[in-house]
Amino acid sequence: AINVKNNQNLVDQLIEWDQKHFLHPTSSVRAHQQNGPEHIFMEGNGVRVKDIYGNEYIDGLSALWNVNLGYGRTDLGEAAKKQMETLPFSSSFNNYSNEQAIKLAHKISKLAPGDLNVSFFTSGGSESNESVFKIIRHYWKLKGQEKRTKIISLGRAYHGVTMGASSATGMDTFRTFSTAHSPDFIQAMPYLTDCEKGKKNDLNFEHSIRGIIEREGEDKIAAVILEPIQGAGGVNVPPGGYLQAVRDLCNEYGIFMIADEVICGFGRTGKMFGVENWNVVPDFMTVAKGITSGYIPLGAVIMKDSFRDELASLTDNILFHGFTYSGHPTSCAVALKTLEVLENENIISHVKDMEAVVLERFETLKNRHFNVTNDRCVGLLGAFDVLKDPSSNTRFAPEQNAAMVVARGCNKRGLIVRPVMYKGANSVVFAPPLVANKSDINEAMNIFSEALKEFEKKVK
Ligand code: PLP
Repeated sequence: AINVKNNQNLVDQLIEWDQKHFLHPTSSVRAHQQNGPEHIFMEGNGVRVKDIYGNEYIDGLSALWNVNLGYGRTDLGEAAKKQMETLPFSSSFNNYSNEQAIKLAHKISKLAPGDLNVSFFTSGGSESNESVFKIIRHYWKLKGQEKRTKIISLGRAYHGVTMGASSATGMDTFRTFSTAHSPDFIQAMPYLTDCEKGKKNDLNFEHSIRGIIEREGEDKIAAVILEPIQGAGGVNVPPGGYLQAVRDLCNEYGIFMIADEVICGFGRTGKMFGVENWNVVPDFMTVAKGITSGYIPLGAVIMKDSFRDELASLTDNILFHGFTYSGHPTSCAVALKTLEVLENENIISHVKDMEAVVLERFETLKNRHFNVTNDRCVGLLGAFDVLKDPSSNTRFAPEQNAAMVVARGCNKRGLIVRPVMYKGANSVVFAPPLVANKSDINEAMNIFSEALKEFEKKVK
């Protein structure tokens, strides 16, 4: 970190320029204009980042659930440097190809479950979801089923912010941010396992995926998309049997199942992919984030080779969809190195071990702190809720901003975590880099405990 005492002018300059010239994503414009940036980060090492004042934080959200291998990895930097010096960029349009993209597509086919052997590359999660929707609709059009356009997603889901991805997003804060949504996106109520299996006397049946398919007509539905575990919506883990019920339902109606693995993919849940926790193989997976550990942008749509074969047999037209950076050699080189590290350093089995540590410490938090409840953690994707009275399921008033107060208390003490306050719920998310060890987790949990003590005094 810079020595602030000798660089006060730089700090002042950065804050001023930030306020004047930088419109921040998913941030309050007013708070930014009033208070300036929340943090200016300068460097990171392992699970920790340092801000411009030299304060150190454990990154309990892996930045945006993506810096999975932690900060300061020279091997990832070197992979990028080497590729940039050799062939920084090359187009993949018109069947031009490059070594790194080819090797990465091959590697992904080895890692992905079932026949998910073909990758279409993008620059991130939203682009991946946007792409899967368009490619699937293109397919149905080629099959003479133009009317199969509708995409069913789940309430509380997060699929990104481009037009299609935000229309699929179930969190209405994101979905209704702008106007003129893409048509033909419908949200189902999450986790109605029995309804999806066909139990129709449930009051919520009409809001289930099955209910929507029956109402709209199966010949209008292109695909169902869901996160194996919902991330931004509050780390919502589906009940056992849910993913399988959705798989069976999609098979029954001949509808594609898309797993949005943007957070869950590449080890986050203690398996290579989130769906593997339930042994379900979707027709498509969308990935991003952890594929490069966030060191460089990259995403992909992973599909079955039978689907690609069918596209080839249906048309000799060009696939008129692609981004300049689809198959970016430098991004692909970093991804290859990331996947190599994941395997060579046995990161995924480490994540499984750390899951047990987090769950044990969550249990202690729950015992010590009256308001903590509903703790959950799969791999290193964890969260707990804060309720006014867990025994009667009574929530805090929205204006108390309970999860935000806890998260700020953590932040003050050197731990970055994410509050989720969607529709009156108060969840605090903990998803540190996959390389976090027992002592990092214990340190984070001690901070949680201190922040919760302060919170308890505030809400008394
Ligand atoms: N899908 C999921 C499950 C995500 O969590 C995110 C981002 O958080 C996205 C899609 C969008 O990805 P991106 O921000 O890279 O466009």
